[in-house]
Amino acid sequence: MTLSNIENLFKQQWHQKSTADTAKILETDLAIGLSKTEVAERQELYGVNEIKGKVGKSAISRFLNEFNQPLIYILLVAGIVTLLLKDWVDASVILGVMVINAVIGFIQASKAENAIAALAKSVTTEATIVRDGQKVQINSRELVLGDLVLLTSGDKVPADLRLVAVRDLQVSESALTGESVPVQKAIEALDADTVLADRRNMVYGSSLVTFGTAKGIVVAIANQTEIGRISQLIEQNTELETPLTRKIEQFSKSLLYVILGLAAFMFVVVMGKGGTWTEGFKSAVALAVSAIPEGLPAVVTVTLAIGVERMTKQHAIIRKLPAVETLGSTTVICSDKTGTLTENQMTVQAIYAGNHSYGVSGVGYESQGAILQEQHPIEIDRLPALRECLKCGLLCNDSHIQTKDGQLTVAGDPTEGALIVSAQKVGLTLQDLEQEQTRLDTIPFESQFQYMATLHQRKEDGQDTDRHIVYIKGSAESILKRCHRQLDANGELIDLERQQIEETIDRMASQGLRVLAFAKKEISDRFQAIDHEDIQTGLVFLGLQGMIDPPRAEAIAAVRTCHSVGIQVKMITGDHALTAAAIARQMGFSQDEKPLVFTGKQLSQMDDRELADAVEKSNVFARIAPEQKLRLVTALQSKGEIVAMTGDGVNDAPALKKADIGIAMGITGTEVAKEAADMILTDDNFASIELAIEEGRTVYGNLLKTIGFILPVNGGEALTILVGILAATSLPILPVQILWVNMVSSVALSATLAFEPKSTDTMRRSPRSPHEPILTPKLLWRILIISAFNLIAVFGVFEWIWQTTSNLDLARTMAVHTLVSAETFYLLSISQCIPSLFAYFQNRYSKNLVKNCNLKIAYIPAIGVACVFIFQVFFSQLPFVNPLFHTQPLSMMQALICISAGVPVILPALFLKRFAPLN
Ligand code: ADP
Ligand code: MG
Repeated sequence: MTLSNIENLFKQQWHQKSTADTAKILETDLAIGLSKTEVAERQELYGVNEIKGKVGKSAISRFLNEFNQPLIYILLVAGIVTLLLKDWVDASVILGVMVINAVIGFIQASKAENAIAALAKSVTTEATIVRDGQKVQINSRELVLGDLVLLTSGDKVPADLRLVAVRDLQVSESALTGESVPVQKAIEALDADTVLADRRNMVYGSSLVTFGTAKGIVVAIANQTEIGRISQLIEQNTELETPLTRKIEQFSKSLLYVILGLAAFMFVVVMGKGGTWTEGFKSAVALAVSAIPEGLPAVVTVTLAIGVERMTKQHAIIRKLPAVETLGSTTVICSDKTGTLTENQMTVQAIYAGNHSYGVSGVGYESQGAILQEQHPIEIDRLPALRECLKCGLLCNDSHIQTKDGQLTVAGDPTEGALIVSAQKVGLTLQDLEQEQTRLDTIPFESQFQYMATLHQRKEDGQDTDRHIVYIKGSAESILKRCHRQLDANGELIDLERQQIEETIDRMASQGLRVLAFAKKEISDRFQAIDHEDIQTGLVFLGLQGMIDPPRAEAIAAVRTCHSVGIQVKMITGDHALTAAAIARQMGFSQDEKPLVFTGKQLSQMDDRELADAVEKSNVFARIAPEQKLRLVTALQSKGEIVAMTGDGVNDAPALKKADIGIAMGITGTEVAKEAADMILTDDNFASIELAIEEGRTVYGNLLKTIGFILPVNGGEALTILVGILAATSLPILPVQILWVNMVSSVALSATLAFEPKSTDTMRRSPRSPHEPILTPKLLWRILIISAFNLIAVFGVFEWIWQTTSNLDLARTMAVHTLVSAETFYLLSISQCIPSLFAYFQNRYSKNLVKNCNLKIAYIPAIGVACVFIFQVFFSQLPFVNPLFHTQPLSMMQALICISAGVPVILPALFLKRFAPLN
């Protein structure tokens, strides 16, 4: 391929070309794909398959947006009024503060946005392709034109493809066409003027495969794809809004009216006392400025972003910011069993074939071990039924065992891996069998059918015979109902001994084994492909294999933690009811010897009311089809629960969307599930959900602490100004000084709360109601009490110094320092710092001491305090700053007075912590 024909390639109407022509133009071999050297050349030529140039809102418009807040309007008016009063210094400080505020808000919002966008990118799309005749998985960035891509249900289409083979392929193209109903695809060439939505022989990048399989040739990558062309127009929108930020916005709006009212009141009071217009305005401005919590919105965004980062460390990638908050109020977790609660490390332990039961020795995927009958290794050549059963497990199989980092792992489905290993234990391998049987066709495993089937050409003595054979494996129910005959111990066909088989299944399942049944069917060689209809009846039963899948130890602990804090855990599985019950018992889902289990079949006969009662009563749901998950979520939500639901397959997507927290599996999950989820688990582990919930609670707790910290400071300031004016003294703190406190000292202090680690009692509380308003009575009390304290300290110091020295600037400077000191001690008592010191003294003689007073908890507040100390020195001790803020340098003695005046706030703060905790 040369550069000269690239232009041509981009202009091609691929849907009009035949598959052969497409392959020819793109120089691709439809059987073996591109060669490695060809790929390297094309990568050089066309670059990576990555859509670039997404333009978000311009930086300037986002910056201007920072001013678009009601509380900032008040500041703006205050600034302009001060300007009109020709108070140049004050006006420039007020306006300067506004700009700084916007800059900080802008930087923090961009940081948070980038963090979230980066997370979204860290979830890469994989593509399965054929190169050099080998099926390989690559990062979809590395796709080149002409690559041969294999699609299966659950995949995200990695580029624009001209389809060359399809099997029941259905694709959802809603990202492109807005049409949410999946489209059935085909391969025949179409007319040139067929519109995009009707091009049935094409699939386009970012569409989702909802059903079936297909093969296609890459005809456009990166920005040349259809989606690439539109994404350049759509602006990328990273949502930073959450329920809490919305509540804060609401709150700010109400606060606006209160502040305006109070400011007007101030104005009237001052005028009533015979003050001038100027004085009236100045007082009104002072009050307005003091009551506005300028730093709050920025701190909230930062706290959320830090939460996202922490959850990533706990293997939980947040895709939608609101999830950080919702996680903290989760009341029910619905979790898949296989792979999430259990290890997904399958080992066959019991086999049943030809009316005999066998045991299997050996652990994991090691091929050491043997199949045993009454403790003795068997001879496979004497047991034709057993041989057929193992052979079926090998042939009807799409996985293989590989060594990765010195460890044996399964490439594919662990259930299938276990079947390869059990066959290996008697020396059967796929290589030997493939000589006998070539595979012609496959019906892949899908949860809703519960079986997989493969069609093979049978050879005898190297010659093709006129019989083809289908091997089928799947859940016991799905296989047994299609069988009428079975193989006996000698491999002869006999009538199915249903009762004995069913008893065996129950016995295996009650030991917690996952049971698979095996069958075969001979059909005529006219069949080159098979369909579900072809294997509805007439199967010959070959046997059963039962495999263990041990519960994850850390998941057992996590389930216990959840229970202890009032979070219910429900197991939802496609597995057998008895298997599910056994695992549930091992994991402590229920104390009963026989936990109550509902099956999908039972649920499907219930109406919505009965279903809602059933989900409340039971914690184990077996043989659930993915579609039923949606009903379960809805039922739980109708009972007022906040539901987290896990999922991995295509059909889980609706339930993941509907759940309050949809959780997709990072390792085994399909792209479709990930796309629908709010959160992705990078280790597929239930324990990570529990940890994420802990983080969610911590983040929310820290947000409440931040709010509970900032509001009393503003309250105290507003009260001081109010009292100062009513008592007809001079303003104890000037507007510019208040701005200093709000924008510099408070922000530096409150930012430390965002880093508070989770406390030991984070998981001791029951879930928080998401409908809880911000201003609870508890918080109002806190604001009142702490504000009152601040008023006494600040006003007291101010009056005292003013009376004794008659130096107004000095009195104000000391009032500000006192306020900041009180703030600092208040912060320390909100953070886990002082309480843990208390615990230290309480536990002086106990061994817990070191644990309760760990340095990690103290060092971040310490940094905040150190910064504030430096800021305050700057504020009053530097000659060139003094005129800006109307301050005066303090003596050592005066400084100590200010600091000590703030200390007593610890008492009301700890009292509140005990009786009206913030979270
Ligand atoms: P879950 O993942 O919740 O355990 P699945 O829907 O994957 O449940 O499986 C349901 C049943 O289908 C299993 O109990 C098993 O009998 C059968 N099964 C699972 N995986 C396969 C497979 N790869 N091929 C055939 N049958 C399978
Ligand atoms: Mg499964």
